[in-house]
Amino acid sequence: MKKTTIEWCDSTWNPVTGCFHGCEYCYAERIADRFGGSIETCPDGTLHELEEKFYADPSTWVAKQGESLFRAYPWGFDPTFHKYRLHEPQRWKEPRKIFVCSMADLFGAWVPDEWIEEVFEACEMAAWHTYLFITKNPARYLQLFHDGKIPARHNMWYGTTITNPDSPYVFSSLGVFNLFLSVEPILEDMGIWSKSVDEISIKWVIVGAETGNRKGRVIPKKEWIDNLAIQCDYFRIPIFMKDSLIPIVGEENMRREFPIGLL
Ligand code: SF4
Repeated sequence: MKKTTIEWCDSTWNPVTGCFHGCEYCYAERIADRFGGSIETCPDGTLHELEEKFYADPSTWVAKQGESLFRAYPWGFDPTFHKYRLHEPQRWKEPRKIFVCSMADLFGAWVPDEWIEEVFEACEMAAWHTYLFITKNPARYLQLFHDGKIPARHNMWYGTTITNPDSPYVFSSLGVFNLFLSVEPILEDMGIWSKSVDEISIKWVIVGAETGNRKGRVIPKKEWIDNLAIQCDYFRIPIFMKDSLIPIVGEENMRREFPIGLL
């Protein structure tokens, strides 16, 4: 587990890394490529291959001429289960807000249930922390809920990344969970929300702009952020604006709000 520059959490923890969503703006893939291993990857790994192959096991890394062959991302950005990291939160004695799997989509359709369950068990072993998950595949929350495999605890927060008004997000049947939206990077005006159970069950909204110098980077308009803030106010949802929005809305208009439970 390590300290992070992500403004809304204290630490990141990556027992699983890698993702197949292929977002153009993905910063995690760039990092994984930079610190990846030389091990041949398997981009279209089946579930069987994932179970058999995509484990990162330090015991297999050997020193060569005094140089460690440790690779933070031995399979590059392919989904990888770093079992040896499962106990890291237990070593962190002070309560922390932990962003789980900042380098992955833990709830991607390709991730075996067993990996997710082991991560939840590790969270349970260090229950003094608060855990925040984010996915682009919220249907997986629903599947795990129906299978009785996702814990609804006060210290577990389940987020969905949306980037435009058509992105799928939360489901009313998950209303007992702490749900939030990560509108990042915001790529369009999010439009007007209808007053549905889905929206009022959201307890927090994070919003940020794309960073970096990617060709085609979308620079949000101030009115997109204003519209989102107005709707959050209407539904009494705290909104956290990331520093990437300072040049767009101005420091004086920045709102860095947290819901009760994450204060
Ligand atoms: S969902 Fe997240 S981790 Fe996966 S490709 Fe998109 S930005 Fe990267």
